Amino acid sequence: MTLPYQNPDLHSHSVVSDGTLTPEELAARARANGVDLWALTDHDEVGGQHRAAAAARAQGMAYLCGTEISVSFAGETVHIVGLGFDPDDAALVQGLATTRGGREQRAREMAEQLAAHGIAGAFEGALRYVGNPDLISRTHFARFLVEAGVCRDTPEVFRKYLTEGKPGYVPHRWAALGDAVRWIVGAGGVAVIAHPARYRLTANEEYALFSEFRAHGGQAVEVVTGSHTSAEYARYARMAQEFDLAASRGSDFHSPEESSYDLGCLPHLPAGLASVWELLEARIQHPA
Ligand code: AMP
Ligand code: MN
Ligand code: MN
Ligand code: MN
Repeated sequence: MTLPYQNPDLHSHSVVSDGTLTPEELAARARANGVDLWALTDHDEVGGQHRAAAAARAQGMAYLCGTEISVSFAGETVHIVGLGFDPDDAALVQGLATTRGGREQRAREMAEQLAAHGIAGAFEGALRYVGNPDLISRTHFARFLVEAGVCRDTPEVFRKYLTEGKPGYVPHRWAALGDAVRWIVGAGGVAVIAHPARYRLTANEEYALFSEFRAHGGQAVEVVTGSHTSAEYARYARMAQEFDLAASRGSDFHSPEESSYDLGCLPHLPAGLASVWELLEARIQHPA
């Protein structure tokens, strides 16, 4: 069966996490770029979901609720996108609140490390970029370091600071993989492994991630995302087939100034894959 969606974009961030646009601005931008099914997937947070759904409706665009949960797996941070869940589900809301919980303390420790490297005032500096006080992220620090003239752009910040082995990196314990998948599935949604090529996992660890994810009830993987190369589209199309997972597509758009792919400006899924929007047909919110 051919489904009506030509240009789904199921991964993006607003000021409710580490994006620079409001949910309403994102909805308008997505629509202008021809997106016909959109999901706002703020990190560890569903506080923007009702606004995003209303903004999508106002734009005449179909909508799926979304979030992107930070998970610790094999010593690495892995992101699990949730789509099509009930954003008011109590266990999901509580699980996300717990996942967000350590961010402020982590941010203070990041700032202390940066201060020890001669960069003063990073906590207050990062806070000026924060739209949601519960969600201070490395991205906000990166914007401050660019503003302060320490680096030219945010990719340079992540190469020189804030990542493992670099000043300002504070290891953090996020949610467990099984918990994140259960919160999403328990709230009626589908769990998706986000941008799998971005993790520094050995082949065995990656195999374990995919098999454990599936065993916990995960059903999809991002194949086409803003941070994958075309070789990686092909690789994760094969992985989707091997693990019997549906495929997702999303830009991971954060900001007009920072993101390499705009909303809705990605290649289509490779042929022959089941799509996550087919799985989620009953959960899509249609404009009136
Ligand atoms: P956090 O959740 O605070 O650990 O921050 C993670 C966020 O930092 C990601 O969602 C990205 O938005 C951003 N990020 C991580 N690595 C990079 C990178 N190499 N270049 C640009 N942004 C990055
Ligand atoms: Mn982000
Ligand atoms: Mn991510
Ligand atoms: Mn993301």
